[in-house]
Amino acid sequence: MFAINHAATGLIIKKIYPDVPMVVILVSVQLIEILWVVLNFLGVEKTITEDKVQSVSDVHLKFMPFSHSLVSTAVLAAGAWIVLDLGFKAADMGTAVALGICSHLVLDLISHARDIVIAPFLDSRKFGLGLYEKPPFAFVFETIYGIFCWWLYGGSAALFWIIIVFNIANASFFIKAIPGPERLMAHRPFSITAIIALQIIVTAVLVGLYS
Ligand SMILES: [Zn+2]
Repeated sequence: MFAINHAATGLIIKKIYPDVPMVVILVSVQLIEILWVVLNFLGVEKTITEDKVQSVSDVHLKFMPFSHSLVSTAVLAAGAWIVLDLGFKAADMGTAVALGICSHLVLDLISHARDIVIAPFLDSRKFGLGLYEKPPFAFVFETIYGIFCWWLYGGSAALFWIIIVFNIANASFFIKAIPGPERLMAHRPFSITAIIALQIIVTAVLVGLYS
């Protein structure tokens, strides 16, 4: 799932746990993506592309068992919960952060092609419902999901337009007929990592400011 809609998920968590600072929630929903960015830049995890990139279906998240796997996410969420709830006695924050971390993988499992393994170092089958193999459906799903988060939260008009504009800005990644920056990304995995890192930062700042 794209950064804007992971950030929008933070709105649902904020609605349930209003006393937990939004900045903490926004980091939690993107924590495994931040890990993915760092591990891709370090060359530990790997992203590859087709010779021509026209949409997300031409980008393959080839190897990412440390940032995106069922076990690594569960360990990260449990670790955060233990530190915050049992260590710092911040029960709400512990649960909100654990939920945020898990929400990321659940949403990626819905949207991604089959690229999520069970655990690092385990040669298992890969999971993903495959919406990104049918990008126009993914575009509609992601946009409606972002609006749903906004509606559930009861957000401002500005927040609504931030979610809409960022989803529309990603349209070229979903609809082959619309040209966009993805055309320049063939065999340049670091450019994909960089644009995702940028989206994580910008969307978190905007959703945080206007929530
Ligand atoms: Zn992800």
